[in-house]
Amino acid sequence: MAELKTAIDELVIANRIVAAENVCDAFGHVSIRHPEDPKLFLLSRGRAPELIEAADIMQFTLQGETVAGSGKPYLERFIHGAIYEARPDVQAVVHSHSYSVVPFSVIEEKLKPIMHVCATIGAEVPVWDPQSAFGDTDMLVANMEQGRDLARALGPRTSVLMRGHGSTVAGGSLREAVYAAVMLEINANLQLKAQAYGPITFLTPGEIEKIRERQNKGRPGEGFDRAWQYWLRHAGFPGEE
Ligand SMILES: [Zn+2]
Repeated sequence: MAELKTAIDELVIANRIVAAENVCDAFGHVSIRHPEDPKLFLLSRGRAPELIEAADIMQFTLQGETVAGSGKPYLERFIHGAIYEARPDVQAVVHSHSYSVVPFSVIEEKLKPIMHVCATIGAEVPVWDPQSAFGDTDMLVANMEQGRDLARALGPRTSVLMRGHGSTVAGGSLREAVYAAVMLEINANLQLKAQAYGPITFLTPGEIEKIRERQNKGRPGEGFDRAWQYWLRHAGFPGEE
């Protein structure tokens, strides 16, 4: 149970960080796989990430059914369940509507890493379009069928954009997922600025691989600790040792 409490505390911090770093506003959400049962995940009740406290954290099956906690869940919880179901390596998921990322979900040009710290978003960031499988929808991921279709578009990658909606990022640890979500927004912002001046020299797939290898050495998430500690303070928490 101590592990569960730690996971809930870290998830509350993650929610506050994505709010402080302009990844989530009133909308968007962060989840983690249950530390003691991989068939469950932890996600807040439907609330703006900046306001979330430990008591808001609920538990769901990978099919999105509530098993613990009370309150109205997020409609889009199926994003999380479907990705955990498809990807045993994924321990955390961030879904957001961050504003610099959305343009890349509706234009031809691909969002790709242009700066070393942004390599974590992955060499390739596909765009999921619900129109292809479901025709006209309200654009939200409202059931498992849509969640699984999104998980297929994500495939083995870290990030996927969602046309006219936002993005979803999956990580091997909570710190990696939060890091990638923040960097997705930063990279999109930089790419929008750089492309105004002509063609961009992006990081090569080989450079991206080397950066990611370095980040993933040691225990899961360790490569992201320095950023986590900085963002922790930024979000109003006392720093870590
Ligand atoms: Zn959404």
